Amino acid sequence: MSLDRFFSNIAGYMDHYLVLPVLYHFHWMAWDDLAFDWCLICVYGLFAVFVTYAVCLPLEAWKPVEKWPDQKAVLVDVFYTFLNRVGVVPIVTFVLFYQVQTWTTGFVVERGFIPPTLDSLIPGLLGHPLLTFLLYALILDFADYWRHRLSHSFRWWYALHSLHHAQRQMSFWSDDRNHLIDDTISFLWFFIIGLIIGIPPLQFPLLLMGLKFIESLSHANIRLSFGPLEWLTVSPRFHRFHHGLRAAGRNSCNYASVFPVWDIIFRTADFRDEYLPTGDAHAPEALATGNYVQQQVTGLKLFWRALGKSWISLGMGRAA
Ligand SMILES: [Zn+2]
Ligand SMILES: [Zn+2]
Repeated sequence: MSLDRFFSNIAGYMDHYLVLPVLYHFHWMAWDDLAFDWCLICVYGLFAVFVTYAVCLPLEAWKPVEKWPDQKAVLVDVFYTFLNRVGVVPIVTFVLFYQVQTWTTGFVVERGFIPPTLDSLIPGLLGHPLLTFLLYALILDFADYWRHRLSHSFRWWYALHSLHHAQRQMSFWSDDRNHLIDDTISFLWFFIIGLIIGIPPLQFPLLLMGLKFIESLSHANIRLSFGPLEWLTVSPRFHRFHHGLRAAGRNSCNYASVFPVWDIIFRTADFRDEYLPTGDAHAPEALATGNYVQQQVTGLKLFWRALGKSWISLGMGRAA
């Protein structure tokens, strides 16, 4: 049986025994057409977590940067990962994106306007789906560079983002540890860019999955750089330097998630071959070692307090 078929079968069972009964119970039958696709993306999400685990776990065992007496603080990151990759991401990136794109395309087409796509804007792209896919990835990553850099520049935004930085036991599970409000902003950010550049609905979750794999690897607790190819893709060394624990509490370099080229162009890249301990010296302990609810509540309190203070007091996150 092919892998595709295997995934379809699991998604079919999930749809039949889990999702459809819930939809019918709440009279949400309008969604039943999409239910199977959503299950399929959920299964792909699980598979992506499995692949990440299979690649990163042996790497972390082979050349760890740090050895911890226990891994209790990592458990909450595992929870964040499953919640995001299998729960939230499929709903937001597929079901919602599909609905909103169908609605907006219908709305503009009715008014006699054909929305442009990347292939229609750049003639050479037509018939080169891989190149188009890579270009979509570059654009999304460019948007993400600025989202991340801005989240280090606004006091209220960093109050949320500090949850991501508070982890002292950073591992490949840490990529998804974010505050819910921060996650919502990120999804909206990607969502709007995705709509503007006309990413086809099915490619959107696939793109996010590909980018997310590099992001998970970049958080791994491993002494690994890509040597002469460091400028090409974000390595664990490159991103760890962004997470490096600094007395001043400012992390003002290596913002890119996948392509360091944005840090090079905007002069925030730091290719120093150092593996610093990670964490946020100014974050309350609950953000580092609390459970999921404690982290979310503490993040919300910090965010609320920061809203009352001056908004732009952290500068523009330029490398010192
Ligand atoms: Zn950051
Ligand atoms: Zn990170």
